Amino acid sequence: MSVRDMVEKDYYAALGVPKDATTADIKKAYRRLARELHPDKNPGDAKAEARFKEVSEAYDVLSDDTRRREYDEARALFASGGGPAGYGPGGGGGGGYPPGYGGFGQQGSGGGSFAFDDLLRENGSGNLGGLFDNLFQRGPGPSAGRGPKRGTDIAAELTISFEDALTGLETTVRLPGAAPCAQCHGSGARPGSSPRTCPTCRGLGVVSRSQGGFALSEPCRDCRGLGTIIDQPCPECRGSGRRERMQKIRVPAGIADGQKLRVRGRGSAGERGGPAGDLEVTVHVLAHAIFGRDGANLTIILPISVAEAALGASVKVPTLDRTPLTVKVPPGTSSGRRLRVRGRGAPRAGGGRGDLIVTVDVVVPPKLSPKARAAFQELAKALPEDPREHLTVLLEDRA
Ligand SMILES: [Zn+2]
Ligand SMILES: [Zn+2]
Repeated sequence: MSVRDMVEKDYYAALGVPKDATTADIKKAYRRLARELHPDKNPGDAKAEARFKEVSEAYDVLSDDTRRREYDEARALFASGGGPAGYGPGGGGGGGYPPGYGGFGQQGSGGGSFAFDDLLRENGSGNLGGLFDNLFQRGPGPSAGRGPKRGTDIAAELTISFEDALTGLETTVRLPGAAPCAQCHGSGARPGSSPRTCPTCRGLGVVSRSQGGFALSEPCRDCRGLGTIIDQPCPECRGSGRRERMQKIRVPAGIADGQKLRVRGRGSAGERGGPAGDLEVTVHVLAHAIFGRDGANLTIILPISVAEAALGASVKVPTLDRTPLTVKVPPGTSSGRRLRVRGRGAPRAGGGRGDLIVTVDVVVPPKLSPKARAAFQELAKALPEDPREHLTVLLEDRA
C-alpha cells in the first residue's frame, strides 16, 4: 500500500466505524459489510464488488494494530493541516498545509502533482518508517504538543479483615482489565504454534446458507464465531489469550477503612516515553463483631452486672493481640462510662498506638429470681438518693 492510499482513503468511513473503534468493533463492522457485499451474494453488481474491495482493504489495515497506527499517524500528519514546518521542496511556508492531501501538491516545487511516491524517492527511503524519521528530524512541526504523556491512573479495590488492617499485610490486588497472556502474547495458541483461519467461514466467523431462496447467515460452528481455530491452546491461559493483572501491595498496619494506597508507576503506560500512571487502591476494612475503630483508637462495649457497677470490679477484656487485659471498673460506674486503656489501640501511621476505649454497659437482668427480687427490694430501701433530683425542679414548674 502506498502512502498516498493511506492518506487519501478514509478506512474508518469505509467500515462505518468511529476513529476510536475497538478491534472487536472493526471486526464486527467488517463481518456485517462483507456478508452484505460479498460477490457471491451480489452477482454482476459492480458497485457492490467495488465496495467489497474497499471494505476488505480497510479491514486489512485497521485490523492490524501496527498498520492501523501507521495509517492513523499518516492521516493525522497530512490530512489535518498540521504539517511540519519547512517540510517539502518548496517549504518554508511556516507549517500549516491546507487541509487535505490535495493542497499539498501545490506547495511542491515546479508545480504539478506532487505525489508521495516522488517524495519517497527523493528521501531515498522506500518505507514509511523512514519517511517519518526524516519528518520528525525537521523541527517541531507535528511533534509540538505531542510530547511525552503520562499514563492514566488505574483504580482498584481491596477488602481486608479488621485484624489485617491492624497488623498490616502483603497481598495481591486484582487490577481491572485483562492483560495479554505472557506465554502466548495474547494469541491463545501454544507458543510455537499459531491460530489458523477457520476454513469453514474463511475467518468471517459467520457462514451463510441458502434455504428456500433466502440466504441465512449464522455463526460458524467450527470456530464458534471467532474466525480462527486454535489447534493447540496455550497451557498458561487455556486458549483465552488473556490473564488477570495482579499487583503485589503492602498494606501498612493501622490502615483505616476507605483509605487509599498509591503505587507509583503501576498505572497505565505512558505515551511517547512519558511516565506510567499510578495505581490507586481503595482499601475497605470489614467490620468486627466485637471491636470497633475510631481513628487509631479501638473501641469495645463491656457489659457489667448491676453489682459490679455498684461495687466495682476487675473485669477481663479480650484484645485482638491475644494478650487479654484486666480493666478496673471503679465502684459506682454507670452505663456509658468510658474507660481508657492507653496504648492498646491500633497502630498509628507515625508510630505508636492509639488507645482502647472501653464503654461500660450495665446489664439489668430482665427476669429476677425471688431471692434477687427480695434483695433488690432491700436495696431500694437502702438507697435513699433520688437519681432524678436535677429533673424535679422542671417537674415542679410544670405543676
Ligand atoms: Zn469458522
Ligand atoms: Zn496464553
